[in-house]
Amino acid sequence: MDTFRFCPNPQCEYHQEAPAGERWYREKGKYYTKSRGIIKRYLCKACGKSFSSQTYHTSYFLKKPERFEEVLSRLVGGESLRAMSRAMGCSISLLSNRIDRLGRQGLALHSRFLKKQQRCEDICIDGFVSFDRSQYFPSEIPIAVGADSQFIIDASHCNRRRSGKQTPEQSAKSKVLYASTRMEKGGIMRSFREVLDTALGVQPPEQYRPFILRTDEKPDYARVIYSHPQFIYQTESNRFVFWRTPSWLPRNHTNPLFSSNYTEREIRKDQANHHRESVCFNRDSANGMMRLWTYLVWHNYLKPYRINCKHGKQPTSHAAARGISIPFKADFLKLWVCDRCFFSRERMSSAMEKTWRKAWETPGKANSGFIPRFVFD
Ligand SMILES: [Zn+2]
Repeated sequence: MDTFRFCPNPQCEYHQEAPAGERWYREKGKYYTKSRGIIKRYLCKACGKSFSSQTYHTSYFLKKPERFEEVLSRLVGGESLRAMSRAMGCSISLLSNRIDRLGRQGLALHSRFLKKQQRCEDICIDGFVSFDRSQYFPSEIPIAVGADSQFIIDASHCNRRRSGKQTPEQSAKSKVLYASTRMEKGGIMRSFREVLDTALGVQPPEQYRPFILRTDEKPDYARVIYSHPQFIYQTESNRFVFWRTPSWLPRNHTNPLFSSNYTEREIRKDQANHHRESVCFNRDSANGMMRLWTYLVWHNYLKPYRINCKHGKQPTSHAAARGISIPFKADFLKLWVCDRCFFSRERMSSAMEKTWRKAWETPGKANSGFIPRFVFD
């Protein structure tokens, strides 16, 4: 008989943790599936709801082989969705489904590991610029990253108007587009504040260990910092240092924003939808963020730490460089693609939660399509 640690029903008293050693469920028949053979069903004695062993698996509700590992390796290797679809002989919707599952699983695992003991370091926050739907809708994705470990802490999203010099035709087109599209006001400040708050929550300032934030000279960032309670009401034992770096400094490893520049370069190189002048750009902001988070979780926990860095023995991953104790990579991958994470059992940052809910709005588009109800269990 299978063993389960909690009841999958979010309303059940045993949802967060079932009593250890007590048989809180009983067998309730079995059923046959073409894809997975015989699946056993169980009944929770507390809430009376039934569930099966499949309820706890990432492939819950899937009728076809999952192929999670293959999708992940192709996604982080820079393949576009259509290239993956052609090579794997499957539809785009199947790929989107697998990326959604990988993204949500990754978000949940990342939020769990963020709560673990880790070392303190300076934090770099910078906006990664790409675009959604068309170049008239640039997206700004602020990413908080450890200055020494290159470990990603959080990422948010906003769309803004196109800036820079435009031809008269481009200017006329943007006027028409912006008149009919709702754009968020103050999105850059809101998204920056979200990732800043996550970073402050992960490593709050302590005595002899100030919170040191490195950013560029963007005025929006300064406005957020100078009105932030943590900055205004800082004391001797609660220091918040704001370190601004001019953009004209050489972008090498001596630059204080090296980690942000490195992260941007890696995303630009490894993600087909963020290549320069790409035709594989995001058609939907929420799907784009799900895809980006899948990449970022892989970067944190599975990608080797900078292999060309010649400073003695290197940590095995960016999470290890951050001082987070993580399982072996094979075990982490198993956790990622097998053990289903439940939304109601995880505590994520507001930006991560928006990505899970696919709540990022695409300019000029109503919604991100159908989201199954079990995603919010
Ligand atoms: Zn129950």
